[in-house]
Amino acid sequence: MAGRSYLITRPAIRVRALAAAAFALGAAACDRTPPDGVALVGATVFDGTSPQPQLDQVIIVRNDKIEAIGTRAEVDIPRRMRTVDLSGRFIVPGLIDGHVHLQRWTLPRFLAAGVTTVRDVHGPFDSILALREQANLGSLTSPRIFSAGAMIDAAPATYSDAFVVGGANDARKAVDKLAVTGVDYVKVYTRITPELLRAIVDEAQTFGLRVTAHLGLTDAVTAGEIGVRSIEHMSGVPEAAVANNAALYAAHREGFFDGWTAFEKAWAGLDSATLARVAEQLVADRVTIVPTLVLHETLSRLDDPATMQDSSLRLVPDSEMSRWDVPGMVARAGWTAEDFSAFRASRPNQDLFVRIYRASGGKVVAGTDAANQLIVPGQSLIRELELLVQAGFSNTDALFAATRDAALLLGADSLGALVPGRKADLIILARDPVADIGNLRSIQQVMVRGHLMSTDSLRRHW
Ligand SMILES: [Zn+2]
Repeated sequence: MAGRSYLITRPAIRVRALAAAAFALGAAACDRTPPDGVALVGATVFDGTSPQPQLDQVIIVRNDKIEAIGTRAEVDIPRRMRTVDLSGRFIVPGLIDGHVHLQRWTLPRFLAAGVTTVRDVHGPFDSILALREQANLGSLTSPRIFSAGAMIDAAPATYSDAFVVGGANDARKAVDKLAVTGVDYVKVYTRITPELLRAIVDEAQTFGLRVTAHLGLTDAVTAGEIGVRSIEHMSGVPEAAVANNAALYAAHREGFFDGWTAFEKAWAGLDSATLARVAEQLVADRVTIVPTLVLHETLSRLDDPATMQDSSLRLVPDSEMSRWDVPGMVARAGWTAEDFSAFRASRPNQDLFVRIYRASGGKVVAGTDAANQLIVPGQSLIRELELLVQAGFSNTDALFAATRDAALLLGADSLGALVPGRKADLIILARDPVADIGNLRSIQQVMVRGHLMSTDSLRRHW
């Protein structure tokens, strides 16, 4: 997409003398009429189409849409608009977390951090779709929700609420059930073999549904060839890169944590030429990567007391902290100090892969795995963007990964950019995130579905 073209084609609604006179005459009568929109005036705007922020902008929002955007000279403020002076502030599109597992308590926390859309990739089937329904009808204070419903896995499934399939026919039936219920895409999990994946992708395509994968028993390149549209956690990359992946597959068959541990450690032994070859093949198959660096980083530091004392953890309710049971997870996984240092040794190659992927023209989308253990809803997305910057992204490329490119992954062409006709999901910041991505923490207000809310008012929801 040629980003600059939006700036040129923005409608310039100019003040006309007659209209101004009519407004002056009618002003007294208009006072009793409630405003039918809001004009955000004076902020510097990163609009999600161009890396270049625009100074001193006016954004006209009516209903839940952006009606006009441009400089003060270009955009007239219509009558009956509530005007909000945002001089010295910064506006970016509402953020999209590309990998979450939603729970009700997370909703206001996502919004308060500026996350106005979430891509849920597995939850309890009925309740997650009911939650999506309520949120999207506007009856919850919530980000927009896209959902896979329940994931598809093969026996023995890691999650008891997954759809478990035994063969290709089964797999097709699972896709049918998901499609009929109206999921937004299909998520497959670690025990799905290439044979099952072929059936799932083929069936999903008949419904126009995309398939995303957390891979285990299928390598990433094979998954891309079969037609998977996105890969979570960079799963399947070591399996595609190593000379002999039998040991990795044996670990995945053993159980989820065995598979994850072997996968995570395997990164350290990969060289840049091999990573570039895998990236090239995935880019050719137009696969989007959702690396969830914050998950890899957090799991590699579970033996560091600072991980458990992170200030963002105070946003998590006590009941959830006890449910997370991090020591219990470490015991179940059997992770030792040597494992954690091996995970840390793998981190530079994970960053290198993300960097190569981006440089090869591949799409990278920011996602977190919130609200799994220690992945705090909202705050973890800002951390993910910082990790993308540490991996070599510019601040604007990191913003694109959580706005424009995430909207593309969702197939949501009304989201991800601040241009006329799109949804007015945006956030207002005290400091410039294009100068320092961590400035996303200076959020003051968030707008979703056209409603402007202060972060303080959102905190009253928890
Ligand atoms: Zn996940």
